[in-house]
Amino acid sequence: MLETNWATHDFTVKMLDWSASRGSRLAYSCRRCGRKFCRFSLVSRDPWAIDGEGRRLDITISNRWLAEACPGSFNARDDEDRKHLSKSGSHS
Ligand SMILES: [Zn+2]
Repeated sequence: MLETNWATHDFTVKMLDWSASRGSRLAYSCRRCGRKFCRFSLVSRDPWAIDGEGRRLDITISNRWLAEACPGSFNARDDEDRKHLSKSGSHS
């Protein structure tokens, strides 16, 4: 379940920007595994995975990261995952 896995990460949260309709765009980065996610504070949709520069990752990777608990450490496979960017654009 999403909330359960979400809580296993040790996130630092940073506000990227703000819009009246969607609220704050928040970037979550985990201190332990280094995975990063993004979500809007006012929109009830799942977070999505991003790379180190905030670009949206492919939906299959995003879904897998959200379905997993925190790995607890950095791993090389995540670097491979980060090369698969979403084809539907980097923002919004
Ligand atoms: Zn983590």
